[in-house]
Amino acid sequence: MKQMTWHKNGKRYNPDKMVHPSDGDAWTHFDGIHRVKAEEARNVRVALATDGFNPYGLSAAPYTCWTVFVIPLNLPPGVIFQPKNVFLSLIIPGHPGNNMGVFMEPVFDDLIDAWEKGVLTYDRATKRNFTMHVWYHYSLHDFLAYGLFCGWCVHGKFPCPICKAGVRFTWLKSGGKFSSFDQHRQFLPLDHPFRRDIKNFTKGVEVTDPAPQMMTAAEIRAEIEALKVDKEKGRFDGYGQYHMWTHKSGLTRLPYFNDLLLPHNIDLMHTEKNIAEALWGTLMDTEKSKDNVKARVDLAALCDRPKQVMKTPAPGKKWKRTSVDFVLKKDQRREVCQWVQSLMFPDGYAANLRRGVNVSTCRVLGMKSHDFHIWIERLLPAMTRGFVPEHVWRVLAELSYFFRQLCAKELSRAVIDDLEKVAPVLLYKMEKIFPPGFFLSMQHLILHLPHEARMGGPVQACWCYPIERCLKVLQKKCRNKARIEASMAEAFILEEVSNFTTSYYKDSLPSVHNPIPRYNTDERSSNLSLFKGQLGRASASSTKTLRNDEWRTIMLYVLLNLDEVNPYVQ
Ligand SMILES: [Zn+2]
Repeated sequence: MKQMTWHKNGKRYNPDKMVHPSDGDAWTHFDGIHRVKAEEARNVRVALATDGFNPYGLSAAPYTCWTVFVIPLNLPPGVIFQPKNVFLSLIIPGHPGNNMGVFMEPVFDDLIDAWEKGVLTYDRATKRNFTMHVWYHYSLHDFLAYGLFCGWCVHGKFPCPICKAGVRFTWLKSGGKFSSFDQHRQFLPLDHPFRRDIKNFTKGVEVTDPAPQMMTAAEIRAEIEALKVDKEKGRFDGYGQYHMWTHKSGLTRLPYFNDLLLPHNIDLMHTEKNIAEALWGTLMDTEKSKDNVKARVDLAALCDRPKQVMKTPAPGKKWKRTSVDFVLKKDQRREVCQWVQSLMFPDGYAANLRRGVNVSTCRVLGMKSHDFHIWIERLLPAMTRGFVPEHVWRVLAELSYFFRQLCAKELSRAVIDDLEKVAPVLLYKMEKIFPPGFFLSMQHLILHLPHEARMGGPVQACWCYPIERCLKVLQKKCRNKARIEASMAEAFILEEVSNFTTSYYKDSLPSVHNPIPRYNTDERSSNLSLFKGQLGRASASSTKTLRNDEWRTIMLYVLLNLDEVNPYVQ
């Protein structure tokens, strides 16, 4: 219980830096309004996390089931996302789609009850009962789940749930998708030279509009409440024209909704991964490259970049892309692959990237979210230095540094101020280099990330890595494939009970709280001096029959180095 008051009473070693969601502006703003409830440090703020996953694994039947986790945010930074503090509160069988709001109703009912009436709770630290109030602080999920959770469709011409109808994406005819290309000049200061640049962005277009106003929570609630259903089409009036509201989320029922400055978090993990993946594909010219024929056709229509425009091919011939300076040449790509193959990281820092390298095809297969995280923040500048022109490299390095600063465990407010100014300019520097097809909604989100960090505190407390880890654990627990959701729920409850009951055990007793250390230093080690110390297995053991000469060498080594044998030798 003591740890639950950390957000208020916990020791901060560096008071200027943000280390916890409670250092964010959203938290202090809320506390300023609801002083009485905020005064009691034991009252709990929770985060909701939603994500879909396939409980049968990737290779099995296509099926998703959605989970909603509740995470108390009062705990110290390193403890918040420990598996025992992440509670599974809801399992939605199948994809909820626009019924997400309906499925979430029980959770919101409980939240309203816990806010208004409170729950009688025993405090073990003071050995007294008290009425605990619980309220919602923010939610974390990937971009698609964000849309489902808040009821705003994240596709189409207004895909950004933060700007809402304030930013209208451009339709790319050839690519057949909406692009955020050249939609951010309005976020720059009014006298910024990029606003008057008619050459590098959309040709012949100057931007004089001010930045769109972000809607406040009260305005959002009013807009949602004013929505009328068009019974013929089965959706809200004006859908796709003025708004993209798909359903009413129960979130607006919370009595304190208007006081939440940051009701949802953009997940940095997925954003970074998608941007890094697009960048990797484009630089390495893989099949996922955003610099493809369709992108070049759109580029010719939108921008004034004669060097990148393709010549119309003869009838029956294929389009041929002219070479551009931001794509690595074949021999450079091979060199990169060889370099990746030779990379070594500190233990536990990153996955082994070398596994997936194929030098002959210049591909690195099987890169996951965390690999892209390491790649864009650490490897990108070193990898491209000297291979791309200096002005391109500088932008890539800036992007890498942007993410590295944002992902810091301790965020200083001065850095965030800088990042907020840097974000739109950085986007524009990228738009000068890459074709319009490169810029999707994910690239647009770069604009909002620093602001969200200011509101919600360091991204470590609002990204999805821990949630994905929980899903992985949950997936392993499903034993009864015929009743998959029930099996998950039962396994989770069982673990929760064992977690809380065993926390009163002595340290010497084996339990989930004192796991076996990663490096085997336990009492199973040998009595012989030579075999004492850290002698853990590096991987799964297998049996090997020794050749005669191998056996002799090993025996000789043991006999020469074993102290216990010395008296006999002498
Ligand atoms: Zn936006």
